[in-house]
Amino acid sequence: MTLEQESYKRIIENLHDGLYFVDKNRVITYWNKAAEEISGFSADEVVGKSCADNILTHVDSEGNSICKGRCPLAATIADGQPRETEVYMHHKAGHRIPVSVRVNTLTDNDGNIIGGVELFTDISSQAASALRVKELEKMALLDNLTQLPNRNYIESELEKRFEEKKRFDVPFGLLFMDIDHFKVFNDTHGHDVGDEVLKFVAETFTANARPFDLFGRWGGEEFLGIIRNVDGENLGMIGDRIRQLVGNSYIMHQDKKLHVTISIGATLVEENDTIDKIIKRADTLLYKSKESGRNCLTMG
Ligand code: GH3
Ligand code: MG
Ligand code: MG
Repeated sequence: MTLEQESYKRIIENLHDGLYFVDKNRVITYWNKAAEEISGFSADEVVGKSCADNILTHVDSEGNSICKGRCPLAATIADGQPRETEVYMHHKAGHRIPVSVRVNTLTDNDGNIIGGVELFTDISSQAASALRVKELEKMALLDNLTQLPNRNYIESELEKRFEEKKRFDVPFGLLFMDIDHFKVFNDTHGHDVGDEVLKFVAETFTANARPFDLFGRWGGEEFLGIIRNVDGENLGMIGDRIRQLVGNSYIMHQDKKLHVTISIGATLVEENDTIDKIIKRADTLLYKSKESGRNCLTMG
C-alpha cells in the first residue's frame, strides 16, 4: 500500500459516517468503523456478503425491505447517477435506525463502473430533536388557529425591542388592532366562519409585513404589530395600509362576500416605557378609534 493509500484508509476508518463499498454484484468489499457502530454489524460479519443475504437491510418506514427493487445503491450502479435519500437501516439488535444515505459509483481508471459506495449518517437523534424543537415551538409560541406568534412570543419580542432601544436607540412602534363588531359577525354567520375570518386577517398581516416587523395574536380578535425602526408618520401609514387591506379582503360564504374591518391604536415607544405601559397606551388609543366610529386608526 502506498503512503497516499494508507492515509486515505485512515481518514475513511475514522469518519463519523458509515461507509461501505460494494462490487457490481452488491457484495460488500469494505465496511468502516462507523458503519459497525451505527449498524451493530462488524466488518467480519458483512464483508463478502451481499445486501440480498438479509444481513444488512435497508427498510422503509413500514419495515419492508427495499433491497429488491428500490435499493438506491443498485439504482446508482445501474445508471451512474449519484443519489441521496433517507431510509431505515436494520440494526443487528433488531430495531430500525433512520439514516440519511448518499450513494455514488466506484469506477476504474477508464471510468467503467466497478461497484458502488454508500455513505450513511445516523439521523435518529437529529431527527428526533428537530421534531421536538418544532413541536415545542409550536405549542409554546404559536397560536394554533392563525399560526401567528402568540402572546408569549409577542412579549418576548417586545423585551428584545426594548433592549434594542436601550442599547442602540432603535425606535419601534405598536399597532394594537381589534376586529370591529366581531361578536355580531359570529352571531350572524357562526363561530366557524368567524374562525375563517381570523385566519384571513392574520394572513393579511403576515403577507404584508416587512421581514423585520412582527404581527401576533394577542388574544381573541385582538392582534398586535411590532413595527421596527419607524417614526410616527410611517407607523401611521403602515397601520392605515393594513387597515385598508383587511377591509378590502373577504371570504366567500354561501355565495356572499363577507368583510370585516379593524380599528387600530398606534403609538411609538417613549422614554421610560415598559411593556405594560406601551400596551396600555396602544389599547387606550384603540378604544378611541372604536369611539370615533371604528374602521380607523388613532395615533398617540
Ligand atoms: P368591538 O367592535 O367593540 O370590538 O366589538 P366586538 O364584538 O368585536 O367586541 P367584543 O369584545 O364584544 O367581542 C369579541 C368577540 O370575538 C366575541 C367572541 O365571540 C369573538 N372571538 C374571540 N375569539 C374568537 C375565536 O377564536 N373565534 C371566533 N370565531 N370568535 C372569537
Ligand atoms: Mg376585543
Ligand atoms: Mg372587537
